[in-house]
Amino acid sequence: MSEKSIFKRIIDKEIPADIVYEDDLCLAFRDLSPQAPTHVLVIPKKEIKSVATITDQDQALIGHLYLIIRNIARELGLGNGYRVVANCGAEGGQTVDHLHFHLLGGRQLKWPPG
Ligand code: AMP
Repeated sequence: MSEKSIFKRIIDKEIPADIVYEDDLCLAFRDLSPQAPTHVLVIPKKEIKSVATITDQDQALIGHLYLIIRNIARELGLGNGYRVVANCGAEGGQTVDHLHFHLLGGRQLKWPPG
């Protein structure tokens, strides 16, 4: 039986996703249940469960992900601003155990989050 997370299955092209960017290190695709007009998930291809399990060796990878987030935000016209969110663990609201950054924009976002 497969132990793969849903995001690993998207990386491996076993299930479809609306991919907006891909390179050797990461993949970005639209969230199935968008919480804003633009809602993209940016994930490393490396299997990292959450922010809590990032290692020192992942420093450059995490920097790369943020540069890609910046580029995607520019390309999708989020010049008025956007939010980048990584939910971590049960109390953080994480539901998929593969590190992902939510890129949300296209409307006025409120603070604090629920
Ligand atoms: P989180 O709750 O922070 O772990 O975020 C997981 C996100 O993944 C949620 O916003 C879901 O809507 C999204 N999601 C789950 N399955 C898929 C999928 N197959 N394709 C795209 N987004 C998904």
